[in-house]
Amino acid sequence: MRFGRRVVVCQEWTELVTDYLEGALPRPLVKAIDRHLAGCPHCLEYLAQMRRTIELTGHLDDGDFDAAPIEMVDLLVRAFEEFHRGDS
Ligand SMILES: [Zn+2]
Repeated sequence: MRFGRRVVVCQEWTELVTDYLEGALPRPLVKAIDRHLAGCPHCLEYLAQMRRTIELTGHLDDGDFDAAPIEMVDLLVRAFEEFHRGDS
């Protein structure tokens, strides 16, 4: 992978943010995301933008995005944890 794990993880976050705000994500993934947000201003800003969008429109436009399959959740949790291991 050319761009490395960090970029992939941040891209995944943009797809997960609606479920995160709806409380639809499993707890381990939410914890992993919270840890990622603590060290990633870009993802934190994206979250703030999403919150503003919800305040303006009153709802989330979820599109055709379905709940993440459990394999993907597992993968993301590991990716987030590796992100922070590598960072500190
Ligand atoms: Zn990020």
